[in-house]
Amino acid sequence: MEGDGSVYRRKPELGAFADRALRQVQHLVGAVGELLVPPQCPGCGRSGECVEHGKSGDLCPQCKAQLQQVPRRFSPRASLRAPAWTCGPYAGAHRGIILSAKERGSRRAREIMGAVVGAALGNLAAVGEIMPPLITPIVLIPAPTRRGSARRRGGDPVTLACEFAAATMRGVEVLSLVQTQASTTDSAELGASQRRANLSGRILPNVTAGSEKHAQLLKLCESATVVLVDDVATTGATASETELVLASLGVRLDLVLVVSRA
Ligand SMILES: [Zn+2]
Repeated sequence: MEGDGSVYRRKPELGAFADRALRQVQHLVGAVGELLVPPQCPGCGRSGECVEHGKSGDLCPQCKAQLQQVPRRFSPRASLRAPAWTCGPYAGAHRGIILSAKERGSRRAREIMGAVVGAALGNLAAVGEIMPPLITPIVLIPAPTRRGSARRRGGDPVTLACEFAAATMRGVEVLSLVQTQASTTDSAELGASQRRANLSGRILPNVTAGSEKHAQLLKLCESATVVLVDDVATTGATASETELVLASLGVRLDLVLVVSRA
């Protein structure tokens, strides 16, 4: 038994040594990797001296300056009862972050999107457009996506950005209440009326009307500021259609917030 014990006593020491050695190797590989592939800004993709701290995932000063702006109110073409606000135009750093988050699945870009959404909510509360979340909780509803496409991209970036914003702000939570039917085509290539037709009746609630879950969320939304969040607004068709679906569930949409407006 004693012999066994000594073997077991030595094992953790060897393990700790191996761990340390592995960490050193990983650190070395990381450092060499950063030398070979200079860190890129997740906003503009530029690398090298424009990245302030030289660490992978940092925004360059130009992109930071572009993302640092107050949200603006806009009037979408589609009819929408709730006021719509955008964090910026679909250009420059806003566009770069969205593309990194969506098409390249960048976790850092999703976090930055979440931070931009969080900052916009803070600003809207500061100017009196919404109540501060510590007084009236905020419920973030991510705009609907096709389930399959979200899975292929490693999770829906808008939902992940909302979750990041909620994790960093007290009084904010995320409710995924809507999704698009799997047969809906991607709207990127469609015109305004085609977008509307494409979405009409294809945005579905994630909850069964009359169920216990439905009753719970109604209670939650009644005493909250309900905000629909999306990455890009083009015609506002998604927001308009989602507003109708939420109304059919008895949920009143208070505000639409998009990361960018095309
Ligand atoms: Zn940049």
